[in-house]
Amino acid sequence: MLRTKTMKQDWKKRAVEQQKAFRKLLEKGPKNKILAALPQLHENAFAQVNCLDCAACCKNYSPRFKQPDIKRIAKYLRIKEGELVARYLRLDEDNDYVLQSEPCPFLGADNACSIYDERPSDCRRFPYTDEDILLKRIPLTLKNSTFCPITYTVLEQLRERFG
Ligand code: SF4
Ligand code: SF4
Repeated sequence: MLRTKTMKQDWKKRAVEQQKAFRKLLEKGPKNKILAALPQLHENAFAQVNCLDCAACCKNYSPRFKQPDIKRIAKYLRIKEGELVARYLRLDEDNDYVLQSEPCPFLGADNACSIYDERPSDCRRFPYTDEDILLKRIPLTLKNSTFCPITYTVLEQLRERFG
């Protein structure tokens, strides 16, 4: 699943074991130093992990489809916005449009996204490892670290530096 040979295959187990240490780091670590380190660590993690070998986010979770996303994607698919909504989306408890079901219907068998260039903003930003959301939404970051090897890799590198 992971390209790097240096990263052990049991990372999911280690991610669960590290939850307490990760929480401590995110809550009490040196905020400014962590934020300054993120761009490089984010790049390192994307160089180590191939999303096409994973797709855990697209298989198990839904992005929000904001109005500009809906407009852009409907145009790309050459269907009406209402049709896109009716076919694929539903409103969640926060009144956001999300997928009716997972895996995402735009995910191919090869784990490629069929609307990649027009994908929702949430998909572009996930897993937020180069954003301050990493520190602002700690429960989300911790959850992501249990299924997203990029998030886990970034947190592990932060822990080694600042933990
Ligand atoms: S879960 Fe993380 S590593 Fe896996 S495809 Fe999504 S962003 Fe990439
Ligand atoms: S739109 Fe593309 S990137 Fe976003 S969840 Fe679906 S398959 Fe994944």
